[in-house]
Amino acid sequence: MSRVYNFSAGPAMLPEEVLRQSSAEMLDYQGCGMSVMEMSHRSSSFQNILDQAQQDLKDLLALPDNYKVLFLQGGASQQFAMVPMNLMKNGVADYIVTGQWAKKAYAEGAKYGKANKLATSEDRTFAYIPDCADLPVSPDADYVYICENNTIYGTKYKTLPNTKGKPLVADQSSCFLSEPVDVSRYGLIFAGAQKNIGPAGVVVVIIREDLIPEEVPAFVPTMLQYKIHADNNSLYNTPPCYGIYICGKVFQWIKAQGGLEGMQQRNLEKAKLLYDFLDESRLFRGTVDKKDRSLMNVPFVTGDKDLDAKFVKEAAAKGLVNLKGHRTVGGMRASIYNAMPLAGVQTLVDFMKQFETENG
Ligand SMILES: *Cc1c(COP(=O)(O)O)cnc(C)c1O
Repeated sequence: MSRVYNFSAGPAMLPEEVLRQSSAEMLDYQGCGMSVMEMSHRSSSFQNILDQAQQDLKDLLALPDNYKVLFLQGGASQQFAMVPMNLMKNGVADYIVTGQWAKKAYAEGAKYGKANKLATSEDRTFAYIPDCADLPVSPDADYVYICENNTIYGTKYKTLPNTKGKPLVADQSSCFLSEPVDVSRYGLIFAGAQKNIGPAGVVVVIIREDLIPEEVPAFVPTMLQYKIHADNNSLYNTPPCYGIYICGKVFQWIKAQGGLEGMQQRNLEKAKLLYDFLDESRLFRGTVDKKDRSLMNVPFVTGDKDLDAKFVKEAAAKGLVNLKGHRTVGGMRASIYNAMPLAGVQTLVDFMKQFETENG
């Protein structure tokens, strides 16, 4: 069996080393005689897995002491509701809408309070990040919300918005741990695991302690209270044990690659290879403003729908799979998350050159 280069936006590729290690431990985790999947979440073996994953993540992020790490469920989409349910004390929040995920978060926020659309890039199909240096942040806003890397459109904030002192909440699902990050600039970061750090079923939340409310409105379910999960160290109920174990392995893999600096170097190199080719290609072109290009998701088109479809089909036959773009953008999208090796991007670019020669 040979593995393909999987350019899926998520669930996405995992490092091969992580898959090999976890398969070696599948039947008998370190002499326990059972799989991590079969283990009590209250056992010392699982407690060690959880503690280690948490510590490795803290190390990677150089996490300040006043932040908590939570491993929750419900995906990034659950956070669209959990954030306003817990953080809207004044009942007001400002949203910057740079794509479908931010739009969904904004719509969810509007269910629980007054959600303001502070800025949007919808006028050009979200092909850019608006200037956020001096936005009219609401004086009573409980937070300013962004989707930092827009998975579908392939844009990323290169500078964070000026929130005028309000806590910044960021959906980092598709850029989490892809480069160094100054956590102290955020109030809350969340990331669904299945893009950059593990299997679907885990969402990581990094929250500044003073933002964890003591009291929430009565309608908020117990399971959707940050305080419950923070007080119980992500063990209020059965957590997504196996997913946390795989995330932990990915954190160790990232450490071994030189931490977030190492990841950034690798990711810059991969993205440069692809973007440089797009910029010189006679057939393919990128779809977003250059200054806002994502290192993780790279959408591109030929300008001809039939040719796009032919490309996707022929690429798949060569083991370059899941290159079809999102239906709202069309064309192609190469997601080149942390686990995608440089060789995968090189193989893609080589194939694009060949396709261009044959069809250009
Ligand atoms: C994939 C994705 C989501 C949705 O994640 P789920 O875990 O499926 O809820 C939200 N935000 C961003 C930026 C994403 O890439």
